[in-house]
Amino acid sequence: MTGSLNARDARVIAEIGRLRFSPLSLIGGRGNRLIEEGGRELLDLSGSAGAAILGYSHPAVAAAVAKAAGDMAGASLLLYPNEPAVSLAEKLLAITPGSGERRVWFGHSGSDANDCALRVLTAATGRKRFISFVGSYHGNLTGSMGISGHTAMTHTLPRPGVLLLPYPDPYRPEFSADEVLKLMDFQFATTCPPDQVAAMFLEPMMSDGGIITPPPGFLKAVQDRCRAHGIRVVVDEVKVGLARTGRMHCFEHEGLEPDLVIFGKGLGGGLPLSAVIGPAEIMDHAPAFALLTTAGNPVVTAAGNAVLDTIAADGLVARSAAMGDELAGRFRALAEKHEIIGDVRGRGLAIGIDLVSDRETRAPVPAATTAKIIYRGWQLGAAFTYVGLSANVLEFMPPLTLTPGEAEEGAAIVGQAISDVAAGKVSDADIARYMMW
Ligand SMILES: *Cc1c(COP(=O)(O)O)cnc(C)c1O
Repeated sequence: MTGSLNARDARVIAEIGRLRFSPLSLIGGRGNRLIEEGGRELLDLSGSAGAAILGYSHPAVAAAVAKAAGDMAGASLLLYPNEPAVSLAEKLLAITPGSGERRVWFGHSGSDANDCALRVLTAATGRKRFISFVGSYHGNLTGSMGISGHTAMTHTLPRPGVLLLPYPDPYRPEFSADEVLKLMDFQFATTCPPDQVAAMFLEPMMSDGGIITPPPGFLKAVQDRCRAHGIRVVVDEVKVGLARTGRMHCFEHEGLEPDLVIFGKGLGGGLPLSAVIGPAEIMDHAPAFALLTTAGNPVVTAAGNAVLDTIAADGLVARSAAMGDELAGRFRALAEKHEIIGDVRGRGLAIGIDLVSDRETRAPVPAATTAKIIYRGWQLGAAFTYVGLSANVLEFMPPLTLTPGEAEEGAAIVGQAISDVAAGKVSDADIARYMMW
């Protein structure tokens, strides 16, 4: 127990489970602020990868968790129904559009939820192939990794029978929406018989792949093709769902009607909780098919209830839309001064700043430049991270409780960090440990 938290972290926490963007180490959190070792408070524009949807120590979550922890904390949903879990499932069904009999499965993480969906879809449909996109991130367990297309996953082979399609990027249109649809049709007509495809997994807005909003109508056209072949559509809302994008569900922006919907991250307000919603004929496939002893436990599902109740009571869908406009507007104003900002994009409070070394060619900056801006942002008092297949997109997924004053403060820090990095205030040595994916 000697040395700084960072030094101890490096000694005992496995590198395989770490993604560090700066020396920020935590001793606390309050509202939209993180408190680092030494007591300095930083504005959190990362929202802990979007999981801290209500910020830190939100009173509604804290009260719900304390009550549940003092009650039947250890009860297992596998063996007995419990009130918070059943009521959370009822609420999720009520807020998620869909028809027919549907069921909810609870897990601990977005990864296990996608794994569960994969496994039950394979078993229930008898089909073994899946389709997803290059750039997609669906998780870090065997199944969810095997259908992901992120460059951070090239250490693991894709699942046999997976077809990865390009995700059309309006800013760097290497493949147009029409070209991707054509490729999909070509695959169906040749090596990927559509009657062997169980489901298409898609992110309604690509997040870890670079905060990419698809061209209008593209995902709907993908869905139509799937429907025509009896292929189920699974929408992964883990990062962009639950009011994050200015709608309750991100897929609403795209006019999608998913068969299965995956929730995670924000659902538990940062506690380990995920959910799959799907048709009863799939989700009731067989008893005892996807069992996790502590999933859906009363403590995390109490937190989930508090999150959904707070989103409704505090009007966080509208707030996310308004604050997203506010923050993105301030970033766009920065783009007038800073050539390095090639694009500011996103929806609601899911915003990306695409950093380029040349606005004409839109060539991404080297990853070191992104890392330096994040490092300088930490020095100046704000936490944010990066995503994108070229590690050049600053990601902003702040708590939905962000205030206008904090948006102003955050944008000012980002602007200052960009200027300071251009002025050479961060060295290569400073960031050597923080270029991780
Ligand atoms: C983070 C993420 C996951 C995985 O969730 P974990 O809780 O990290 O297991 C899955 N899908 C998307 C879109 C994500 O952003």
